[in-house]
Amino acid sequence: MSSTLSFEVFPPNTQVGTEKLFATLEDLRELQPDFISVTCSNNRKTIEETTLKVADYIHNELQVPTIAHLPAAYLDQKQVQRLVEQLDQIGIHQILALRGDISPELPPKKDFTYASDLIDFVKKQAPAFHVSGACYPEAHPESLNRIEDIKSLRQKVSVGCDQLITQLFFDNELFYQFQESCDLADIKVPILAGIMPIVNRKQALRLIKTTNTKLPRKFLAILEKYEHDPVALREAGLAYAVDQIIDLATQDVAGIHLYTMNNAEVAKHIYQNTKNVLSGQIKAV
Ligand code: FAD
Repeated sequence: MSSTLSFEVFPPNTQVGTEKLFATLEDLRELQPDFISVTCSNNRKTIEETTLKVADYIHNELQVPTIAHLPAAYLDQKQVQRLVEQLDQIGIHQILALRGDISPELPPKKDFTYASDLIDFVKKQAPAFHVSGACYPEAHPESLNRIEDIKSLRQKVSVGCDQLITQLFFDNELFYQFQESCDLADIKVPILAGIMPIVNRKQALRLIKTTNTKLPRKFLAILEKYEHDPVALREAGLAYAVDQIIDLATQDVAGIHLYTMNNAEVAKHIYQNTKNVLSGQIKAV
């Protein structure tokens, strides 16, 4: 069985950054991804100039299937309706429906308490839209426990979520346990595994500081040993991600969603080193 390969990019805050991203996207197109997803800040003010602009470019200029992320905790129904219409007008019919993070200083609006409220709303407004949802192999940090988290996920799927994309993880065993829990809970939609190759010290330190993700011994050893050797750290980080993907492919994962951090070189390396295992073709010798 083959697995899909898709990429996540984020819209930069500046015009120069956006133009640089457009060049990166040309390189990503060459890798023929199944889709490219574009993140979206919870700050609605800039969405037309950021997520929508980048998504429009990928979909219409590069002709690559595009998923626009849509976090809705700070939006009301009218705003979401308008955004869905705007996406429809530019020809994009795929979204990743999210609640988004809640800032302690800013109370959310009341229309979309959970991502499932958004999925329900979008599916009613635009039934033809393909709607993905986020999921967390190690449970969402706010959830009471894994069982409650899986129940929430089942709710997402029951209101029409077509596909799930995981938070990044570095321990495949946790992903397999999560898949099994989903299966037991009758969650049958494809689950794409989110993989982030670690290629520099800054990224690694940020990850250690901010993430709840379990960092396996083998992974921590790489960070420790090559902390001050950027070339070796990059090589080992890429090899770790490739190893993770190969293992997932052997277990027939539905797809790999690569957190590219807007780095086409990283995506190219992963593609070159996994394209045959992901395509799953049995070649005649
Ligand atoms: P929800 O699914 O609503 O879950 C939030 C919490 O509520 C969880 O603890 C869940 O268990 C619980 N819950 C859900 N439904 C119910 C219910 N019915 N009853 C009780 N409890 C419930 N953030 C951005 O701002 N922009 C992005 O572009 C972005 N992209 C992302 C991409 C991926 C693949 C992932 C995994 C995350 C992304 N995020 C993004 C982060 C995400 O917004 C945060 O993790 C946020 O805190 C939760 O969003 P959610 O959609 O998973 O929320």
